[in-house]
Amino acid sequence: MKKNPDEKLLNNQGSDTIARSFSTRGVGLAGISGEAYAPLDLPTFVPGKNTNTGSETDSSPDDIPFAEPKRIDLRGIPPYLILHGGCLAVYFTGWSWFAIGAAVFLYLVRMFAITAFYHRYFSHRAFKTSRFMQFVFAALGNTAFQRGPLWWALNHRHHHKHSDHVDDKHSPKQFGFFWSHLGWLTDTENLSTDYKKIKDFARFPELVFLNRYNLIVPALYVAGLAATGWLLETFAPGLGTNAGQLVVWGFFISTVALLHVTLLVNSLAHVWGKRRFDTGDHSRNNWLIAVLTLGEGWHNNHHRYQHSARQGFFWFELDVSYYLLKLMERLGLIYDLKPVPQRVYDEVRELKKIESKT
Ligand SMILES: [Zn+2]
Ligand SMILES: [Zn+2]
Repeated sequence: MKKNPDEKLLNNQGSDTIARSFSTRGVGLAGISGEAYAPLDLPTFVPGKNTNTGSETDSSPDDIPFAEPKRIDLRGIPPYLILHGGCLAVYFTGWSWFAIGAAVFLYLVRMFAITAFYHRYFSHRAFKTSRFMQFVFAALGNTAFQRGPLWWALNHRHHHKHSDHVDDKHSPKQFGFFWSHLGWLTDTENLSTDYKKIKDFARFPELVFLNRYNLIVPALYVAGLAATGWLLETFAPGLGTNAGQLVVWGFFISTVALLHVTLLVNSLAHVWGKRRFDTGDHSRNNWLIAVLTLGEGWHNNHHRYQHSARQGFFWFELDVSYYLLKLMERLGLIYDLKPVPQRVYDEVRELKKIESKT
């Protein structure tokens, strides 16, 4: 059987045995060799075939069977209730231009950490970096209060494997918009991380530690905001800010906005937008989500070719995270950014030809 080129590339990402991937030998602080990676267990896209089932006959996403409906798990609600409820404390702390600026700045920094590191690096290994930077990326992403990097990456890989099918944990087509957006996060059966399923990163004890104790970094983040606010109130009172105000704006408000915009990729980007590629699921390209998420809105592109560091496949598809990753590559912080293959661009050209004929 002829091998699909995507599959070939996927397997070339690392053909080591599982035993070797668990070993930390040969993985120094200076760099992580691509050879040391275990192969990614992700689906292979074959044009004309369903991405998830591989079947020739059910390539239309409208043919996907439906799962049993899900119910909100009340036991999983408290963290999100506290996070959203904390925003109301703004009534007591008030606002200042400095606090609003901090909220926006921290939203952007952490959004980049989620899209570039939690998503493109840990979920898809779209580029390489050193072990030290890998830890920094994980810690930065962890400030977003979206659980640990391995939990996040594992769930996201699962989404690509089952997107919009019965096993997808957050498909709006299967379980409705609200479940796909926030409901699935309340599911307490979905809290743990099966480290056996993410062996490529579970071999790093520092990442497992961050993932297991994923509230440490957010707690340090809040403490850092409070300390900064206190220092500014004491030494720069003209800014009109204080500890409480920076915690409310820099953590609660900024994090709630960050959470909902990130979740729009699971919910809205599978409902609203254009479908350039027939990917066998409901993924869409949506420019508004791309602007808000620094490039993640090109979700149909991403479902077509998930290994690329780039999600806006053309210059007119704004992908700020990709531009920043290119900058980081120039600075020597990351390397080996995976490109969009020429055959995918050829496919777009063919699709345009067909479109112009009809
Ligand atoms: Zn998706
Ligand atoms: Zn992805």
